Amino acid sequence: MIVYSEKFKEHDQEYHPENNNRLLGIMRHLTRMDVFEEVPLFEPQPAGREDLLRVHSLEHVEKIRKLSEMGDANIGMDTYLTFNSYNTAKLSAGGVLTCVDKFFEGYRHSFALIRPPGHHAERDKAMGFCLFNNVAVAARYASAKYGVEKIAIIDIDVHHGNGTQEIFYSDPDVFYISLHQFPHYPGTGGIDETGIGRGAGYTLNVPLPPKTRDRSFLRAVDEVVIPAIRRYKPEIVLVSAGYDAHHSDPLGGLELSHSCYYEVSRRLMDNAPGLIHALEGGYNLESLPKSVYATLMPLFDLKGEPPEPPMDENPAVTRYIDRRIDAIKDKFNL
Ligand SMILES: [Zn+2]
Repeated sequence: MIVYSEKFKEHDQEYHPENNNRLLGIMRHLTRMDVFEEVPLFEPQPAGREDLLRVHSLEHVEKIRKLSEMGDANIGMDTYLTFNSYNTAKLSAGGVLTCVDKFFEGYRHSFALIRPPGHHAERDKAMGFCLFNNVAVAARYASAKYGVEKIAIIDIDVHHGNGTQEIFYSDPDVFYISLHQFPHYPGTGGIDETGIGRGAGYTLNVPLPPKTRDRSFLRAVDEVVIPAIRRYKPEIVLVSAGYDAHHSDPLGGLELSHSCYYEVSRRLMDNAPGLIHALEGGYNLESLPKSVYATLMPLFDLKGEPPEPPMDENPAVTRYIDRRIDAIKDKFNL
């Protein structure tokens, strides 16, 4: 199933890369590809304050509410709020909660087409276009409402999800795994960031150099992500589904093809009880809809446009990443 609401347009800034044309383009493409003839579409319910407060401080939630009520406001260099951003951000988190509810009704695979994105938002801080951490709110909701004890979050956005990592850094009940460009915004996500206290070993970062293409990305999925998930045996898998690692994206330097998203989806679904996707980044308006479609293809057995072929990888890049993947496998005994 897919979750979407037209109300997401209420958080919008025309010349900002994170604007509502992203979702409109995805919806247009999925409609043109007849996806909604096969896959049910649901309107999300907004997350409640109690849902946000399982993850964020009261001060943070109140700050977002008040800034939003004031109308146009900015946090840091890059994160904007408009008059209805507080409610739209609650609806964005709520989109993933709807997917969690539907998972327990039997919809194993889902995709929340939501914005603003979430994975940079920390417990007490909005940044990187993110106001509330949507997947984190969903993970805590799954524990509180359904008693889920083991949750995996797989983050394939080109940027490291510093917020998700921070929120669960000492928590063994949520295993955070991220593949991302490094060094790159926001600067976190090194190999040695593996969790602390009871959460030690439950944060796994796969930092990748610029020009990483499908071959090495999929090797990391096959040899690191999937063995880690198989060992952990999560009851729920959330995917921070960002598409700014596509080669056409203006904000990323990895060079994945649409096929890579198809392959990631296909491989993960064979190794998880279900996949709940939450849209994160992806800023090329031409390619973003196609990348999302490539993710959906194996999940819902969709036909249509073949994903684009992968590009060959520079052998020096491949060798560098192979060594890095071997080091991560050693560190985590994979
Ligand atoms: Zn991103």
